[in-house]
Amino acid sequence: MNVLLTGGAGYIGSHTAVELLNRGCDIVIADDYSNSSPVAVERIRQITGRDFPAYHADVTDREAVRRIFRENKIDCVIHFAGKKAVGESVKIPLSYYRTNLDAALTVLECMKEASVSRFIFSSGSLNPIPYREDMPRGECSSPYGTTKAMIEKILEDACHADPALSAVLLRYFNPIGAHPSGLIGEDPQGIPNNLLPYIAQVAVGRREKLTVFGGDYPTPDGTCRRDYLHVMDLAAGHHRAACYTMEHPGVTAVNLGTGTPYSVLEVIEAFRKASGREVPYVIGPRRAGDLPEYWADAAKAKELFGWQAQYTLQDMCRDTWAWQSKNPQGYPKA
Ligand code: UDP
Repeated sequence: MNVLLTGGAGYIGSHTAVELLNRGCDIVIADDYSNSSPVAVERIRQITGRDFPAYHADVTDREAVRRIFRENKIDCVIHFAGKKAVGESVKIPLSYYRTNLDAALTVLECMKEASVSRFIFSSGSLNPIPYREDMPRGECSSPYGTTKAMIEKILEDACHADPALSAVLLRYFNPIGAHPSGLIGEDPQGIPNNLLPYIAQVAVGRREKLTVFGGDYPTPDGTCRRDYLHVMDLAAGHHRAACYTMEHPGVTAVNLGTGTPYSVLEVIEAFRKASGREVPYVIGPRRAGDLPEYWADAAKAKELFGWQAQYTLQDMCRDTWAWQSKNPQGYPKA
């Protein structure tokens, strides 16, 4: 199976690339490196000892995408490419709608031209919100989340119109960790929005302390609880989804998660143990939009894919630390 990974140099894309190569698949990467590094592509080759084509391409560029399908016989596309900063999407919504919808539509149209009919949308979280009774069903908390929901709807309609088309919508919440080699990992630009990159940068000395957003939630220790998932488990889930599309036309939404939420304080403690470094923190005010807790019911992934998360929270922290300690400033500038 030859899989095109759009956004394949990014955090989840690069780990999925390693998983696919290790499972004997061929891959092609397309990435514009706007929020990723070409060094990641080299590291994927280093980890797997395998070579593959990598295109420096923006997938909203129709000619660039056509060329990829012309030059490679692709069986399946895993679509990661898109903008993903929740806060930024609130400030520049038009840019998010333009980029994310354009990317998905362009790839789908070029797939049709090339008679490629298998698509995995790495949808991630649709951005759960504190649900109020007056909100319509399916409402998202940010333009970013809405682009995801819209792309899922587009895929539903496209599969309805074309019985040969097969799409899996993968939903998951908090991917963390890294390849155990520490050669690839999450490399946020600027101040990290997410918990684990922030903790890792505190532990490595790039930032002074973590602010825990809220200590008065109705949870056992007062901090929010989330379903953290090792990125290698997530990568394995993408591989299984790709295999699934080979046999099953139509559209299927599948959650990936451990089903077990951990609190912010539990994550800090696990990271302290894994790294042997202190993680100084203060409890600050709540962050707008955070829910006290949520987790994914991944029963369907087990049933359809035979997939279950294998890694523990301790593994996730160990591997995040392997990446951060070997690459304190992230990927070197290419
Ligand atoms: N969090 C925190 N301090 C930070 C970043 C995150 O306390 O600097 C908390 C956040 O409130 C949430 C959890 O860590 O409870 C995970 O947040 P993240 O942004 O990583 O993912 P989210 O669950 O919001 O998608």
